[in-house]
Amino acid sequence: MTATRTPGMPVVEDGVLISTSPATGAEAGRVPISGPDDVASAVRRARAAGAWWAALGFDERRTRLLRWRALLAERIDELAELTHTETGKPPADAIVEAAAAIEHIDWAARNAKRVLGPRRTKMRLLLAEHSGHLEYQPYGVVGVIGPWNYPILTPLGPISGALAAGNAVVLKPSEYTPVVGQWIVDTFAEVVPEQPVLQVVHGLGDVGAALCRAGIGKLAFTGSTATAKKVMAACAETLTPVLIEAGGKDALIVDADADVSAAAEAAVWGGMTNAGQTCIGIERVYAVAPVYDAFVEAVVAKAGKLKLGEDIGPMTMPGQLDVVRRHIDDALASGGRAVLGGAGAVQPPSVAPTVLVDVPEESAAIREETFGPTLTITKVTDADEAVRRANALPYGLGGAVFGKANGVRIARRLKAGMVAVNSTLTFVGMATLPFGGVGDSGFGRIHGDDGLREFGVPKSITVRRGPSLLPSMTFERTPAQVRRIVKAVKLLYGRRP
Ligand code: NDP
Repeated sequence: MTATRTPGMPVVEDGVLISTSPATGAEAGRVPISGPDDVASAVRRARAAGAWWAALGFDERRTRLLRWRALLAERIDELAELTHTETGKPPADAIVEAAAAIEHIDWAARNAKRVLGPRRTKMRLLLAEHSGHLEYQPYGVVGVIGPWNYPILTPLGPISGALAAGNAVVLKPSEYTPVVGQWIVDTFAEVVPEQPVLQVVHGLGDVGAALCRAGIGKLAFTGSTATAKKVMAACAETLTPVLIEAGGKDALIVDADADVSAAAEAAVWGGMTNAGQTCIGIERVYAVAPVYDAFVEAVVAKAGKLKLGEDIGPMTMPGQLDVVRRHIDDALASGGRAVLGGAGAVQPPSVAPTVLVDVPEESAAIREETFGPTLTITKVTDADEAVRRANALPYGLGGAVFGKANGVRIARRLKAGMVAVNSTLTFVGMATLPFGGVGDSGFGRIHGDDGLREFGVPKSITVRRGPSLLPSMTFERTPAQVRRIVKAVKLLYGRRP
């Protein structure tokens, strides 16, 4: 039986999910599949654990989360090795991924109290006798559904925010990377052994769907746009709020005054790191005419040096090979040219770096998420045309601009939640910045202040401090008092600017 398994394809045997390396077929580990009752009881346990965790308060949670961060930092090599085995990504890429996740845990732990803790709001003249108090209270239980491409970083974004905010979390990792998910949860239990504050449930899509319907307070989903719609529909049944981090088709714009060599280096890394299986990966490049030829030449030179199996790992999900093959074939059939890789690039379980030019804008390689180590490069007359083309898709996740004088101006005009100027993907590692997209790439944010607020319910409290000068909210107000209110409104707001 084992001999016929496709490397990387998860196998279910007797209620156990067996995860294998897409590169070698070696077993990465096995985890028990959760049934609907298991999901329900995990959420039930999480509810009690969440109340306990919330009651610890910001300072104690900070200490526990920083201990967890330290444990992950100590064992980063072990985590990277496991991730390398389960996804096939090069160990160095797994280290970079783990480092970013650790940074986010550290930041969330240190900033949750400032962002979510109780504060008084500014006094206004109307209702001046009341003070306003705001705090962000946890949802109770947050469900986190994650993808396989970054099995450490993508779940830990919402998990770190949700835990720091005082929620318990139930994680459903992708069926392709359950072992990394289990490892994350097990290490947390080492620093928080008292209660199941962070749990994991395993299985296929039906387990994720069961989590949506299990009475959680909020769901944070990271995955494809198509699945995001199913998740939203399931959550809509109970009006459970959702945060959606979905797919993208990010563009890089190279302006006339760009450092062409740096732009090429970034395009190759942004497009081909993790074998291109990156939600914020660069998939399309729009280079202005004066730098186009030099840029293409530099990209081909740099991408041509990447080695399969060393710099470029296998496709984590074997089925993805067909998608990448279809996009390359379609691009070539519709008039595109491969200046690197191309027709024979798909060499299971990997895809060789491929650079396509002259690809029509209607082609799948330009319009759909490819998720492989491929780049299309399109010549444009100027930055305006580049922005127009970059913005032409329903997606709007990230993007990048290379240019000196107008880099930030161009970045502002891109339909995207995040843009890196003179680098690529940087925003995902910057813990102070919110991460998320617009349009088909989703809504809601992880990371940064906004990412923390995503996991707290704003609670507004007013406290009466004295008698009302302008009593409006009582049946006992007199006509004279109403006239005083009119006078006050005119005085305060009647002046035109
Ligand atoms: P999928 O949408 O296929 O799966 C995501 C998760 O949802 C998996 O855990 C999956 O479980 C689960 N799932 C599947 N069906 C359902 C369902 N009906 N109800 C609830 N959960 C379900 O995405 P991939 O795992 O293939 O990940 C790749 C995608 O993720 C790409 O589109 C990529 O761009 C996007 N992504 C977005 C990021 C962002 O931050 N915006 C970051 C990283 C990736 P199972 O695997 O068991 O089917």
